[in-house]
Amino acid sequence: MSFQASYAEFASPRPGDTATSSRHLAPDCAGLDFFALDRGLRDLLGVYLPAQAHQHLLPHFQRMGQLSGGRLNALAAVADKYAPVLHARTRWGEDHDWIEYHPAYQEMEHIAFADFQFHAMGHRAGVLGCDAPLPPAAKYAFQYLFVQSEFGQMCPISVTDTSIHLIRKFGSPALQQKLLPRMLSPDLGSLWKGTQFMTEKAGGSDVGAIETIAREEGGQWRLYGEKWFCSHADADVVLLLARPEARLAAPVALRCSRVPRRLDDGSRNAYRIVRLK
Ligand SMILES: Cc1cc2nc3c(=O)[nH]c(=O)nc-3n(C[C@H](O)[C@H](O)[C@H](O)COP(=O)(O)OP(=O)(O)OC[C@H]3O[C@@H](n4cnc5c(N)ncnc54)[C@H](O)[C@@H]3O)c2cc1C
Repeated sequence: MSFQASYAEFASPRPGDTATSSRHLAPDCAGLDFFALDRGLRDLLGVYLPAQAHQHLLPHFQRMGQLSGGRLNALAAVADKYAPVLHARTRWGEDHDWIEYHPAYQEMEHIAFADFQFHAMGHRAGVLGCDAPLPPAAKYAFQYLFVQSEFGQMCPISVTDTSIHLIRKFGSPALQQKLLPRMLSPDLGSLWKGTQFMTEKAGGSDVGAIETIAREEGGQWRLYGEKWFCSHADADVVLLLARPEARLAAPVALRCSRVPRRLDDGSRNAYRIVRLK
């Protein structure tokens, strides 16, 4: 059959077709096992993972494949219909900026951060019973299975994972000691998720155009400016790019600050979330 003929058949309904007919639609993947049906992935894992890790992780890949076609798929369909809601204040009128999520979203968070610990699997031992951090190929294979049902969660997962990476690589020992146990936690009640605030109206691709200013005042850094886009506004630890005031003349001299959502005394830091996109 030529391409043109098959396109014409797809485009023109035939007598007897009804609105509910699924004859012309892509097949529904709900209920399928995304790992079992993906021979390419299974073969590649055998090539790229060390034999022992491959053998140990196989049942976990199988479980994720079933979850992705099953429970996760059902939860994602519900969460898509109930977008998160930004609340600027608490009921007592305090400026707290908290975000309310549907229980379906929260259950997906549980699968991602508590059960599979995506954010921590590349950084520490103990995830999925492994005695070392998972190899990158294993982490990305889990993510590949997960996002076939739920892509939205991948933003908080990814920015937490990458923030941990930056803090491990560049943070002082004291900062690492303070942040990493909480950021690597599998307990959603005490976990500190991460994020990055970089993009501004003036500076997306052109990071050198960033206008947010970092000013040293009374022995601590204060940040003045507005960010424009971020994958995970609801984070506990923000890594933020700003221009140190003393070096305003240098176009690429930027400083990466760690901004806590809550200060050491427990109070809410003074930044505001303007809206959810
Ligand atoms: C899914 C998603 C998640 C994101 N998450 C985050 C986040 O967590 N934190 C955060 O800070 N930001 C985040 N961003 C924002 C992202 O960093 C910016 O969108 C990106 O840096 C591009 O900036 P911009 O959108 O302002 O586009 P612009 O920089 O205005 O670019 C617009 C167009 O111009 C082109 N262009 C730009 N400069 C040049 C040049 N010099 N020469 C030729 N062409 C050029 C670009 O290729 C593009 O096609 C996210 C964006 C997306 C889509």
